[in-house]
Amino acid sequence: MMNDNEKLFNSGILTEEKQEAVLPPMDLWEKKKNGLVVIECPQQIPCNPCHDSCPTGAIMAFENIIDIPRIDYEKCTGCGRCVARCPGLACFVVDLTWGEENEALMKLPHEMLPLPRAGDEVACLNRMGEEVHRGKVINVTEPWKDCTRVVHVSVPKDMIMKIRAVKVV
Ligand code: SF4
Ligand code: SF4
Repeated sequence: MMNDNEKLFNSGILTEEKQEAVLPPMDLWEKKKNGLVVIECPQQIPCNPCHDSCPTGAIMAFENIIDIPRIDYEKCTGCGRCVARCPGLACFVVDLTWGEENEALMKLPHEMLPLPRAGDEVACLNRMGEEVHRGKVINVTEPWKDCTRVVHVSVPKDMIMKIRAVKVV
């Protein structure tokens, strides 16, 4: 019988035990201003807007539409366009150079109303939609002017692999 985590993974939601995130190499990640993309897309699905939306070619061309994204981190500028364009809300940017020593800036997709505003305190949610932290919104951008926002929120560095969404409180 499947446990809760296995059910969630099979439903397409990653879990603490089965993160399977494609993570940047730490030596580059720690020094890259504006952050680097983190992609959590382990299932072979026919989808490639992450590649199409990337202005630098950091998300490499797909040989097959069901390929899992491959990333050239040297080319990633942390712009967040893929964050706004991914229909699976599976792209994030994490800037480890931002803020104080123990802080990071996360750029998270946001398609819910009400919209957060810069300066707001928001609930930071894990993959299960549970609140795990309260963070401060630093900026809200709309890279494609199509209503999908990217919320920039300050979080403790040790929570970057837990927080995956925000909610206005
Ligand atoms: S953050 Fe920008 S540069 Fe980096 S992978 Fe996404 S779209 Fe490409
Ligand atoms: S756009 Fe999102 S869901 Fe589609 S392949 Fe890229 S990361 Fe996966």
